[in-house]
Amino acid sequence: MHYPEPISKLMESFMKLPGIGPKTAARLAFFVLGMKEDTVLDFAKALVDAKRNLSFCSNCGHITDVDPCMICQDQSRDRTTICVVQDPKDVIAMEKMRDYTGLYHVLQGAISPMDGIGPEDINVPSLLKRLQDETVSELILATNPTIEGEATAMYISRLVKPSGIKTTRIAHGLPVGGDLEYADEVTLSKALEGRREL
Ligand SMILES: [Zn+2]
Repeated sequence: MHYPEPISKLMESFMKLPGIGPKTAARLAFFVLGMKEDTVLDFAKALVDAKRNLSFCSNCGHITDVDPCMICQDQSRDRTTICVVQDPKDVIAMEKMRDYTGLYHVLQGAISPMDGIGPEDINVPSLLKRLQDETVSELILATNPTIEGEATAMYISRLVKPSGIKTTRIAHGLPVGGDLEYADEVTLSKALEGRREL
């Protein structure tokens, strides 16, 4: 089917998003056509603003509009515990649970030799630097319960162990192969509570 050029361009833009195929892209593009111009402008502005104003915290790697992020800046948090996660979305999931008051470190991925991703390609070096500079007594490894997530947790644990910092792994109430961000709050809370020392 041949669409007028502005529609095809809009469809192509939607198709750059994850999980959007041609059919959904067409549906969304036509939906936008039916929206009020003001709403469309607000929508476009929100996209640009999010991109321009958000970056990664230079300390923990979480997504933020201030640097260091609000969590790193918050002096009321337990600064002796760092929870290591793969993705900023995992921090949001953990924060929703409200049981955790320590700090975070976002790896921005996991070690995956098959994909050529080594420790240097994710935020492992910055984690090691933090462990030297900050007074940390426990590192909670909350990477995803996937092969890559487990390998990453083991790698970090082995690396950190000689320093005397306690490393723990969240319990497997989490579905194997699942992502932290999709776990409900109760499951996540139980997983945190049942963490064991590595
Ligand atoms: Zn931070």
